[in-house]
Amino acid sequence: EIMTKTGWNFDNGYARLPESFFTLCNPIAVPSPKLVIFNDSLAKSLGLDSQELKSKDGVDILSGNQLPPGALPLAQAYAGHQFGHFTMLGDGRALLLGEQITPKSDRFDVQLKGPGRTPYSRGGDGRAALGPMLREYIISEAMHALGIPTTRSLAVVTTGQWIIRETQLPGAILTRVAASHIRVGTFQYVAHWCTPEELRILADYTIKRHFPEIEGDKNPYLALLKEVIKRQATLIAKWQLVGFIHGVMNTDNMAISGETIDYGPCAFMDTYDPATVFSSIDVGGRYAYRNQPKIAPWNLSRFAETLLPLLHDNEQQAIKLAQDAIEDFDGLYHCNWLGGVRAKLGIFNEELGDETLMEDLFHMMEKHRADYTNTFRDLTLNKLEEIGFSHTSEFIQWHELWQRRLERQQQSKNSSYQLMKDNNPGIIPRNHRVEEALEAAVDKGDYSIMHRLLNVLSDPYAYSPQQEDYSTLPPPSNRPYRTFCGT
Ligand code: AMP
Ligand code: MG
Ligand code: MG
Repeated sequence: EIMTKTGWNFDNGYARLPESFFTLCNPIAVPSPKLVIFNDSLAKSLGLDSQELKSKDGVDILSGNQLPPGALPLAQAYAGHQFGHFTMLGDGRALLLGEQITPKSDRFDVQLKGPGRTPYSRGGDGRAALGPMLREYIISEAMHALGIPTTRSLAVVTTGQWIIRETQLPGAILTRVAASHIRVGTFQYVAHWCTPEELRILADYTIKRHFPEIEGDKNPYLALLKEVIKRQATLIAKWQLVGFIHGVMNTDNMAISGETIDYGPCAFMDTYDPATVFSSIDVGGRYAYRNQPKIAPWNLSRFAETLLPLLHDNEQQAIKLAQDAIEDFDGLYHCNWLGGVRAKLGIFNEELGDETLMEDLFHMMEKHRADYTNTFRDLTLNKLEEIGFSHTSEFIQWHELWQRRLERQQQSKNSSYQLMKDNNPGIIPRNHRVEEALEAAVDKGDYSIMHRLLNVLSDPYAYSPQQEDYSTLPPPSNRPYRTFCGT
């Protein structure tokens, strides 16, 4: 076993796949790398030595100036439907350093985001700006703490270079950690440009890596499709339940592992409004909050199409199998969502009227433009006076019905309120708080606000006194909030 002082323990399985799947490519050196944020607990779980990684040699690795032992940097090829249009993409500003085998024998991709141009960069510079990389760090780590499958963030280093966008921005590199970077778009690329044999190799590799339990299935490729559908149905329900809006659900940004990936224009919803869109480029609202559960099966259909030749020798039969699997998404999603909202309302068992009870609450929230997170938080803490519409007869009636519903189950009210605490985050990365942290960090080099924010976000269900501050709403001038991608 090759174990170095820093704990790097790479086994690069993707690099052993057909060479059309990637291009070997080294990071381009940067002038003066400086570590600005580091994830000690993630490093530990990866088996990496934090102290070593924070030293000069370690920062050289995190900036791409040096390669860790056993690394074999490569840019992955992929394609994707971007806002509905199919195109060739690939890692234009990211490099996979290798697959780290952890002390528990798990396997994670370690990827640098922003290490310079690759063969897939097209017109881009392959670089990333500090603000967006810190933003990805904050939000991905918050998602992890919320219990939502996601890529993680190990570190951000500044490069000492300016990058040119609309203005000049300080350059940075994020180290991203993922179960893998295999995307729907990876399958689209291979299905479109590689051989049928190569498609089978990718599918087999994916099964081995993410779904070993289906390896012996009669039709493992159908099982693969069904498992990916299941994971996405779980994931999207979790997003909806906390008000997370991904913002750019292109097929290249949907991971086969079921992790949330690509934190570009994402943001959490404040005011409950199903039509909410934050991304400045999503003018049609294709990726609005309420559309996420519809876009997912659209993307999964693109995935299913790539698998058709593997599903059945007869094309019509293959299509039928794929369609049946895709049709299951809605039911799976709904079941996850329903279970999630029940928990948010302290409900343990199932009753026919539950959905009406939920819908009535959501309607009131929408009508009164209530804050999504805080409404559930206030119900959890039984701080009804904090709910803006609690004086309405509509709410009083709803509350009465809800309380009676809780009384009809075996569990005590106390356990209902505990269930609510475990399922309604007291805090989320609110946009104005994230902006405040980024501004101090990027403009003044002051990371104290970001550290405090990361600290409270690390346990969103704690309901601790320090978190109280973070549930206040943004001043009206900060709305509507807009997000951008591609920086
Ligand atoms: P995204 O919008 O982040 O999903 O990225 C879409 C595509 O653009 C991917 O192929 C990226 O690798 C590529 N890309 C984004 N930013 C850059 C950049 N600064 N330089 C090169 N390629 C980029
Ligand atoms: Mg992307
Ligand atoms: Mg992106």
